[in-house]
Amino acid sequence: MKPLAVLGVTGSIGRQTLEVARELAWPVTAIGARRPSAELAQIARDWPEATIAVAGGSQEERAEFADEFGNRVSFGSESLAEAAAQPDVLVVNGVVGLAGLPVTLAAARAGNRIALANKESMVAAGPMIKAELARSGGELIPVDSEHSAIFQCLAGERPETVSKVILTASGGPFRGFSRDQLESVTPEQALRHPNWSMGKRITVDSATLVNKALEVIEAINLFDLDLEHVEVVVHPESVVHSLVRFRDGSIKAQLGAPDMRLPIAVALTYPDRATQILEPFELAGVTLHFEAPDREAFKALDLGYEAARQGGAAPAIFNAADEVAVEAFLGGRVGFNGITEVISSTMEKLPGLPADTLEEVLAADRAAREEAAGLIAGAC
Ligand code: MG
Repeated sequence: MKPLAVLGVTGSIGRQTLEVARELAWPVTAIGARRPSAELAQIARDWPEATIAVAGGSQEERAEFADEFGNRVSFGSESLAEAAAQPDVLVVNGVVGLAGLPVTLAAARAGNRIALANKESMVAAGPMIKAELARSGGELIPVDSEHSAIFQCLAGERPETVSKVILTASGGPFRGFSRDQLESVTPEQALRHPNWSMGKRITVDSATLVNKALEVIEAINLFDLDLEHVEVVVHPESVVHSLVRFRDGSIKAQLGAPDMRLPIAVALTYPDRATQILEPFELAGVTLHFEAPDREAFKALDLGYEAARQGGAAPAIFNAADEVAVEAFLGGRVGFNGITEVISSTMEKLPGLPADTLEEVLAADRAAREEAAGLIAGAC
């Protein structure tokens, strides 16, 4: 039982990780967040044995923290990565956005186990992270529910026997809508996710299927798959978290209530399993539906495949353009369909950028943000 370094601890994954840690009596040696908030202070009081890493914050905010927590706390943009690079810790990376990438890289270099909830790491820099893990002997276990499901289905199987990895998508609140109908949907409607409660960007990303497109890229990088081996199926109940089809025709699936504490516990305990993280899932009376995604209405999916096919910095550009476009959509500056239009145009404007180093990934991310912001400003 290696002690946990929980980074992005004030976010949804961070808080649920602490619940699981409490439940399993798992030690927490470090916590970290981007800002010194009241919430972070409370967590620091609840876990007095943990050191505290704080990336940002004003002088006053930092001074307040230093007053209360003394030498338990370290400040600076490198502090989260430093916490992830300590020897013999299990790193839970729940940092939001590309800021999570240096944390993943630091943990990978140090040879630690990483429970990875930061999607952007694997999307923008999958090959780089895999190379670091191969060098250090570290391991990475996905916390994203779909990828945790695939990870569990693949356990004990040989890679060459896998014919398809099938990611499930709830379809979001606009399942069945045509592209015309999508033109007029509002941010309020987009923020109503039927099954999962999540942050704003990922909720909009679920409505556009951008989230699923990112997960396709994530799956390709995590499990060393070819593009044509990854499929998406719409499954509105969110009970089947994903599936794997094998060459003999067998399909394995992982099922359960939509609750992130399970993939978190799997990433902590694998190959062991914790005792009853969730109540037993009652199968009687449950009906499951599956349908093909509407790729005409939801263009994000094909754009994601295109980004994966291009490789290099294309996935990072896809991700950055989406983040800017979602922000603009929430602010009423572009329509719902405008989100994928911005992504598509940004990708066209920035072809062939490399992503072999952290600096190159960050540069592509910046370029894509500028390009997307310019496109949105020009369209207004
Ligand atoms: Mg997911």
